[in-house]
Amino acid sequence: MSDNANVIDQSSPSIARVYDYLLGGKDNYEVDRAVGDHFKLNLPGSVSIAFTNRQALIRAVREMAEAGLTQFLDFGSGLPTADNVHQVAQRVNPEARVAYIDNDPIVLAHGRALLATNDNTTVVQADVRDSAGIRAHPEVNRLIDFDKPVGVIFSAILHHLNDDEDPRAVVDYWTGQIAEGSSVFISHFRSGHNAETREAEGKLQSTFGRGRWRTDEEIAALFGDLRLQEPGVVAAALWHPEEPAADAPRIGSAERELTIWEELIVAAIADKR
Ligand code: SAM
Repeated sequence: MSDNANVIDQSSPSIARVYDYLLGGKDNYEVDRAVGDHFKLNLPGSVSIAFTNRQALIRAVREMAEAGLTQFLDFGSGLPTADNVHQVAQRVNPEARVAYIDNDPIVLAHGRALLATNDNTTVVQADVRDSAGIRAHPEVNRLIDFDKPVGVIFSAILHHLNDDEDPRAVVDYWTGQIAEGSSVFISHFRSGHNAETREAEGKLQSTFGRGRWRTDEEIAALFGDLRLQEPGVVAAALWHPEEPAADAPRIGSAERELTIWEELIVAAIADKR
């Protein structure tokens, strides 16, 4: 980590702040809004991708909590938004504990107030590539008991790692740390699915200078030896969609057709058994 790793740089766009802008948040600067507006204009699905991803994350956390998981590690957690992981998990179990990890100093600055709301939540500024450093972090160890099952979340972060940074090894590391009964959630930008993908991927890479979108097979391979839950790696909108009321229009159900934009983000959970 560089000396100024905890200084908020307002002169270049940050992934966390652009994402916050797309989700309608206020924790962003002119430079982020310019990028966000560029995405909105040239990639009209940007906003729906962000919401689709976020909603899949919320469903996944709720399901993990309902399945009995009481502690969560959220890598690349992002800025506080409408419904955060600890709020979702604590609605199911008020004792649920969440360690948020993000390398962007703005997440620490704003997250301390809004995410680290009680003794059961914390925000750690760290780079997901520094697995051993995060594992040794006192705040992580204060909240996460690695002898008990953990819900590990990599939501829209691993596509910000290049291949030579070995995202599979990052997941493998945590798979090795967690107890049986743990689950790992990944959402990820998907390449090779339609013609829009290449252009969108190029825009993201040129804006942030990094990242790689992956095929469904590559994303499934990130889970290593974990056992994929049904329905496997699918468009995030189709990952355990909410069942609409019997008389409601079939919006958000597996029966509707996805937009080309919704095809760009996939999600899956796998378990350690
Ligand atoms: N997980 C949230 C969600 O799905 O709604 C936020 C996703 S946002 C697109 C990606 C987040 O990953 C940003 O907050 C960014 O700062 C963080 N991030 C990117 N690269 C990272 C790295 N190497 N280490 C830690 N966090 C990183």
